[in-house]
Amino acid sequence: MTVIDDLATLEHEAAEALEAAADLSGLAEWKSTYIGKSGSLTRLSRGLGALPADQRPEVGRRVNALREQLEAAFEAAEARLKRAAQDAELSADCIDVTMPGRPPALGHIHLTNQVIQQVQEIFAEMGFQIGESPEVELDEYNFSLLNFADDHPARDMQDTFYVEMPEGSPSVLLRTHTSNAQIHAMRRHAPNPIRVLVPGKCYRNEQVTVRSEMQFFQFEFLAVGRNITMGDLKGTLAYFAERMYGPGTKVRLRPSFFPFTEPSAEMDVSCFLCDGKGCRICKHAGWLEIGGCGMVHPNVLRNGGYDPEHFSGFAGGFGPERIAMLKYGIDDIRGFYGGSIDFVEQFG
Ligand SMILES: [Zn+2]
Repeated sequence: MTVIDDLATLEHEAAEALEAAADLSGLAEWKSTYIGKSGSLTRLSRGLGALPADQRPEVGRRVNALREQLEAAFEAAEARLKRAAQDAELSADCIDVTMPGRPPALGHIHLTNQVIQQVQEIFAEMGFQIGESPEVELDEYNFSLLNFADDHPARDMQDTFYVEMPEGSPSVLLRTHTSNAQIHAMRRHAPNPIRVLVPGKCYRNEQVTVRSEMQFFQFEFLAVGRNITMGDLKGTLAYFAERMYGPGTKVRLRPSFFPFTEPSAEMDVSCFLCDGKGCRICKHAGWLEIGGCGMVHPNVLRNGGYDPEHFSGFAGGFGPERIAMLKYGIDDIRGFYGGSIDFVEQFG
């Protein structure tokens, strides 16, 4: 075993260890192991003195050559690892401006409000203004002024949420329909003609089932002026039906009774799913009932500030939930207020 052999082994080992150094701290360790002050090469060169004189120059030259080689290899490895570290830092920090942005998770308009907006647009096209009326209302605006007799069953405590009021206060309730808007609108505008659409939330003290909720939206539409006839009512509904459900949709009025209209009618539209041929949604009738309407009762006109001898009008109401249920085949009204994201997200 000669020093030359030792040098060859050292060269081989150092090259392998350098290859394995994965980072700058591994590299520092390598430096002290092989070319440091007490590293292998230094220790080996200290043994030169024990060599025969004729071998010393050759071995010394080889030791120096190996040291230079290892130092050069060290510097190259150090430069490579530093660059890799910098690259890693840069790529961790940098922002690639060419990447597509992450869109924020936006919600969307609730199905009920989509229908409300659509209906408002259609009535606005016919010159109706969009109005408001109170959700917490005086009994007289919700009932008496709309010609509900004092003993009308709808006034029963079973159907209406009353607000607890101090002794001697007028009776206050959560409105049971948007028809309270009729009196407000007429009193604000009489004796001028009016055309108004009022959407809003209504409340009834009812059992919640798949077909009825204790809270729901309604629209009230009202037109008052001179010479307004049932033909105007039907024309308004015909325009609405075609715009809402598509060209060719027909309207049908069936006699009915409401205290605040005379005559009164239920309004049906021809089933837009089966074109009147009969299907599951229309229960094979070919028609879908969407609401109630009629000519404003003379007593209501009078209560609103119009002389029924010279003025007439039509009014009606329907629910956006019902419209949406028919349109999308929804068979459980509780979805609208149940707070289920799964339900809501279907109608984005
Ligand atoms: Zn049908």
